[in-house]
Amino acid sequence: MTDVPTQDDVAVNLADVKARMAAVAKSAGRVPADVALVAVSKTHPAERVRIVLAAGQRVFGENRVQEAMAKFPALKDQHPDLRLHLIGPLQSNKVKEAIALFDAIESVDRPKLAASLAEQMAKSGRRPDCYIQVNTGAEPQKAGILPAEADAFIRACRETHGLPLKGLMCIPPVEEAASIHFALLREIARRNGLSKLSMGMSGDFEEAIRFGATLVRVGSAIFGARPRPQE
Ligand SMILES: *Cc1c(COP(=O)(O)O)cnc(C)c1O
Repeated sequence: MTDVPTQDDVAVNLADVKARMAAVAKSAGRVPADVALVAVSKTHPAERVRIVLAAGQRVFGENRVQEAMAKFPALKDQHPDLRLHLIGPLQSNKVKEAIALFDAIESVDRPKLAASLAEQMAKSGRRPDCYIQVNTGAEPQKAGILPAEADAFIRACRETHGLPLKGLMCIPPVEEAASIHFALLREIARRNGLSKLSMGMSGDFEEAIRFGATLVRVGSAIFGARPRPQE
């Protein structure tokens, strides 16, 4: 890699993202404090996460349970107020580890997973915030419940499984205007009485905030380009 950012770069990037978030929130007539930043640290080593922690950031996102288990337990010991979000697909056989480590699971996307989460929450007594991932573009290769099935799944998560459901999450198709997908996610949340919307990444978080995002998940705009591509 030729463009590994320095400690100062990362702090500057973080300040820049936060300033852009606050500016767009204000211009959209929203309260900046109502939009939280999840710093997506996947593929970046723990030392890089420490730099971002030193700059004051406390919420992080990882997309793989295994990788997060290697990086975050020590960081959480040192920073009890650190909050970790799972933003990638969760296999049923990793539910126990995920509930032990993560403070929010943003990728609840199928009935079987909802049932295992409920069972493991009852066993462990830990109840991480849950977000349902909606496959707003109905892309076959992408995780998430289909929009047409979202209302029934939301009801099942609440009534059948009793999950601590906070909101919805989406990852729009790369080749389409993200705004259509942000608007769809907002509408599904509105009609189901859900107040939290996790949407927007490095390339489109400002647009997402205009469409009501309460959480934006930003990786490369803070940490620099990832050392290897993600599938
Ligand atoms: C990697 C990832 C992000 C961050 O992407 P950037 O473009 O680097 O900001 C956000 N959300 C999810 C689900 C991701 O996997």
